[in-house]
Amino acid sequence: MPTKAFGFVTDLFTFRRCPDGGAITLVKDDVFECVKCGQKLPEHWNF
Ligand SMILES: [Zn+2]
Repeated sequence: MPTKAFGFVTDLFTFRRCPDGGAITLVKDDVFECVKCGQKLPEHWNF
């Protein structure tokens, strides 16, 4: 299944969308913080 490879990629690169500005942040080292405004990002996928 192609979804297996896709899941592998999303495990390596976790993205979150800022609830306020809508900026897309790449989450590294489990730091859930918006790159633009610095606010805390949701722990769950929110696209
Ligand atoms: Zn933000």
